Amino acid sequence: MSDCIFCKIIAGQIPCNKVYEDDDMLAFHDIRPIAPVHFLIIPKRHIESLLTTTADDVDILGKIMTKVPELAREQGLAAGFKTGINTGKLGGQEVYHLHVHVFGHKA
Ligand code: 5GP
Ligand code: ZN
Repeated sequence: MSDCIFCKIIAGQIPCNKVYEDDDMLAFHDIRPIAPVHFLIIPKRHIESLLTTTADDVDILGKIMTKVPELAREQGLAAGFKTGINTGKLGGQEVYHLHVHVFGHKA
């Protein structure tokens, strides 16, 4: 998606403070953190939102959700953290490339 800001981050056209990357996903710190630790995990394949997911997305959604606790631990959130997926206009979604917020305070 040429006009998607997160696709541009994936392509390296916009810089980010990277937390993790593999072939399927990218994690980076949120530019406007709402907690001392706040990062986002996104699929590299453009998926608009949780409202548009299909059976094709089962694998990547599973990979992302199982990566959440691993990265959270690495970022100092082993004692617990919050997650969120803002979805659609009424769900407060600003960037229409599916992303999981992970945020919290270091213990
Ligand atoms: P949401 O769509 O879940 O409401 O919010 C999108 C999130 O992406 C926001 O928390 C915002 O701060 C973050 N964000 C938007 N643009 C950028 C960017 O260019 N870089 C980074 N690192 N985060 C961004
Ligand atoms: Zn995108």
